[in-house]
Amino acid sequence: MTQSPSLNPVKIRPSPDLAHEVVQSIVILTEQRDQRSLIQSLIASLSEMLAGAESWLLDVPAELDEPLEFTVAHGRATALPPEILGFGRQLPNPDELNAYEHGETVYQVIRLRDAERDRMQVLVLGKADWAEAERLLLRGMTRVYQNFVELLYDSEKDTLTGLYNRRKLETKLKDFGLPPPAIRRQTDAKTTDYLAILDLDRFKRINDNYGHLIGDEVLLTFANILRRTLREDDLIFRYGGEEFVTLLGEATEDSVAVVLERVRRNVEAHDFPMVGHLTVSIGYAHLDRHSTPLDVLDKADRALYFAKENGRNQVCEFERLVREGKLDDITHDGSIELF
Ligand code: GH3
Ligand code: MG
Ligand code: MG
Repeated sequence: MTQSPSLNPVKIRPSPDLAHEVVQSIVILTEQRDQRSLIQSLIASLSEMLAGAESWLLDVPAELDEPLEFTVAHGRATALPPEILGFGRQLPNPDELNAYEHGETVYQVIRLRDAERDRMQVLVLGKADWAEAERLLLRGMTRVYQNFVELLYDSEKDTLTGLYNRRKLETKLKDFGLPPPAIRRQTDAKTTDYLAILDLDRFKRINDNYGHLIGDEVLLTFANILRRTLREDDLIFRYGGEEFVTLLGEATEDSVAVVLERVRRNVEAHDFPMVGHLTVSIGYAHLDRHSTPLDVLDKADRALYFAKENGRNQVCEFERLVREGKLDDITHDGSIELF
């Protein structure tokens, strides 16, 4: 049996102080519950343990054919040699330390696997010289970080469809309560966010007629139609059994209506293996900052209920139904059980 390299005995014996510091850092690291605070915690620990090291975190487009537009997420941008920027993106293997010498400083450059997959992060630590124990420490802590990021990532995903799960929706909706600059890009004042609930019509019949496995297959195909039809930036969640939620960012009233109608049509047109044709009903509401996320979910749910009551296979906007006098604007807090 071949032994994994990570199980090779470490020949350097850490001092009790260092061992204590490492354990403390791992405790703090694994207390974090989102990637942003996790990376901050990693950088803080490394800066503390690697005396005299300066650190940087770079956000890099993952695709090599994209322009090399770096964001320095942490560290003094001016102090970083520009050559490192190009070097970091070309590193083939995540997790490995890559030394880059420049003047008096040796930079250890590590490509991190990004949980969200669309951006790559590069961690850079620079100091005059590196002891073997320091390199091992850096590599080990980075691996703990990576493993934990993967774990967090998996815990946010629905196992059947690979979409985000309800727990992730809960955290995303909490983010909406934060002051805008903390979580959002500068946006066009005319655009806004919407929350839609999508529920397959008469889905119970699919299970009853074809069995649960075929039902699951339909859910998976439906999830793929959503992925294909919605924009890449729109977040999609499996909310419950055959109910899905999407958060459509920076949309206008017209564009959101168009995209959700496209979802409805694409589902209607799809020939599901064994099952044939299916339809979906969609209710959506404006995710404004004056309402609580719970209110908005309630509004979208009421619009969905209206769609179901009025023939299914349709897209209904809460605000429009209110304007047309078909629904009242009172939010029924607690009328649906949420989180
Ligand atoms: P409606 O048009 O009113 O939405 O009718 P429906 O039959 O879709 O509505 P209902 O919510 O009563 O039924 C949802 C069904 O979805 C119940 C259950 O059999 C099925 N379901 C829920 N979760 C899963 C799942 O994970 N896999 C499968 N195969 N079926 C599921
Ligand atoms: Mg349902
Ligand atoms: Mg249904």
